Amino acid sequence: MRIVVLAGGIGGARFLRGLKAASPGSDITVIGNTGDDIHLFGLKVCPDLDTVMYTLGGGIHEGQGWGRADETFAVKEELAAYGVGPEWFGLGDRDFATHIVRTQMIAAGYPLSAVTEALCARWQPGVRLLPMTDDRVETHVLIDDPEAAPGADGQSGRRAVHFQEYWVRHRAAVPAHAVVPVGADQAKPAPGVLEAVAAADVVLFPPSNPVVSVGTILAVPGIREAIADAGVPVVGLSPVIGGAPVRGMADKVLAAVGVESTAAAVARFYGSGLLDGWLVDSSDAGTAGEVEAAGIRCRAVPLLMTDVAATAAMAREALALAEEVRA
Ligand code: GDP
Ligand code: CA
Repeated sequence: MRIVVLAGGIGGARFLRGLKAASPGSDITVIGNTGDDIHLFGLKVCPDLDTVMYTLGGGIHEGQGWGRADETFAVKEELAAYGVGPEWFGLGDRDFATHIVRTQMIAAGYPLSAVTEALCARWQPGVRLLPMTDDRVETHVLIDDPEAAPGADGQSGRRAVHFQEYWVRHRAAVPAHAVVPVGADQAKPAPGVLEAVAAADVVLFPPSNPVVSVGTILAVPGIREAIADAGVPVVGLSPVIGGAPVRGMADKVLAAVGVESTAAAVARFYGSGLLDGWLVDSSDAGTAGEVEAAGIRCRAVPLLMTDVAATAAMAREALALAEEVRA
């Protein structure tokens, strides 16, 4: 079976590990979010692609869910000694090597998709990992700026910051008013993306952030349309359980785009034009009727990715729901 998965970082990567266990014979193509990408110290960093690559390749820091296992921070400390920041983004020594290789290849003229393939030759993630686009897309968040002078109306100033500054530096604790994938409207899907969607037997949305992970991928012109037109089941798993994201601050970016943090509201955000099936957690079984009323087939099953076995069971439920909507 050919499965296409639209993935962010931790939620996407952990789900993929379960999917591989649930369906070992499948041919899995991952379309990764690159809206989180950032240039730091002259290096191009792709946090979500790397989280998928390290998680599936066995190099991830398991407890943290991002970054390398057995990491050290000598370079970061030396940079800080020179007064060179930002100090709020923790790149470890092992991780630095990945960004150096990537940046060197990009400087030599390789597109990000080719670079990602080269990095994956080492990690052997067991899936085909494609960036959503080779073009530069950067998610920015419009926040209240505590440092900006008040405007004429006495309101505090607003400022657009890079998603990582909002997420990592401010821990999403400052009010956000809009989320904009800058450059997405001009971006083209990376080579292989539309072909993979067209050849897919099923498309899955893992429990990734619906706004800044899956939403950013869908903002690249052509990808949403290709999925809607593929004529194959599209099934998603809710990242929201009991009115809150399982981990992280996804509720903040959902609020910024006017979406409630409930499993049913996230399903409606994707919409029945895109989603055929939606899995909510067993504890949200009461909301299944609301999802079905929106024209999306819904099942309630355990959705906590506590270990690979539990995650594989989630993946099997998603594939079963896909067969149900196909029939
Ligand atoms: P990021 O790029 O690292 O933020 O990762 P993703 O966008 O791929 O996934 C983040 C989302 O994963 C968060 O919004 C969480 O709600 C969700 N998530 C994390 N762990 C779990 C879990 O065990 N179950 C479910 N259903 N969602 C989870
Ligand atoms: Ca991310």
